[in-house]
Amino acid sequence: KRAGKGRVVWLSARGETAPVARQAQLRRRLQLAVAAGGFRLHYQPLLDLATDGSLAVEALLRWHDEVLGSVPPSEFIPVAESVNLIQQIGRWVFNEACAQAGAWLEAGSPRTISINVSPIQLAANKVVGELLAAMAAHRVPAELIRVEITESSAIADFPRAIKQLAQLREAGIGVDLDDFGTGYSSVGMLRDLPLNTVKIDKSFIDNIDTSEREAAFVGGLINIAHAWGLKVTAEGVERPEQLEVLRELGCDTAQGYYISRPASASDLPGAQALAALQ
Ligand code: C2E
Ligand code: CA
Ligand code: CA
Ligand code: CA
Repeated sequence: KRAGKGRVVWLSARGETAPVARQAQLRRRLQLAVAAGGFRLHYQPLLDLATDGSLAVEALLRWHDEVLGSVPPSEFIPVAESVNLIQQIGRWVFNEACAQAGAWLEAGSPRTISINVSPIQLAANKVVGELLAAMAAHRVPAELIRVEITESSAIADFPRAIKQLAQLREAGIGVDLDDFGTGYSSVGMLRDLPLNTVKIDKSFIDNIDTSEREAAFVGGLINIAHAWGLKVTAEGVERPEQLEVLRELGCDTAQGYYISRPASASDLPGAQALAALQ
């Protein structure tokens, strides 16, 4: 209704909307990109607040299409999920991330890579085998791979998803809950899922350096997570003042534009540049 009379919009599981025509075009172009290989991975460093220098990154998918230009993942991932392309794209991400992890390892500067896994992928029951196969193909040990998951109403078979997460953990792969505090992840998930880390969503980090209320809330979350044996990562850190507050609150890891924007593997800041932020 907000878009005007007589218009139809398509609602994704994540709440974004796009006109039907754009959806159809995205679907067609995505299909081509999956076949022809139109994707790249960028990597964003995670700053370990306890040690100096960070050697962990999150893999973030990038798609540049000849016709559509650069399309952000927030727009094309929901489309890929809705037309069953997410499995293939997810497999490509596994292989590409493991190839990069293997290359860094071989070069003598191993970095841990966190890979985003869609709830639809989790529900399909093949994730564990596919990820382990990609790791084996590139000789990547489990301690260099982590998986980030979000809750979704799209997980129809939640017990099966939990089983897969448990298998990942048994294989030595870290499992992290993404976007904590948004509608997609809740305290119930913290309690019920086999997790290593909670990533507190950017929206809770935005004002921690200007609002004592917000800082106290994040501090409370950190304490709960720690009491439950979980590590905490703060997302979306854009200012040094936020980093300072997070240190005081005992947060384990920080990620955000202030530390580094996502970049191609060759453009990532080195350990020394990151250590300077300590
Ligand atoms: P996410 O997993 O929560 O990733 C963090 C997003 O926040 C990234 O957006 C990153 O570029 C952005 N970001 C990081 N630091 C800052 C900051 O300081 N300020 C601001 N404003 N933004 C920051 P991006 O790359 O556009 O990815 C959006 C979402 O798309 C991701 O959110 C994730 O849910 C999804 N996604 C990305 N890559 C993949 C993938 O390979 N597979 C799946 N299934 N989903 C992916
Ligand atoms: Ca993530
Ligand atoms: Ca996130
Ligand atoms: Ca997000």
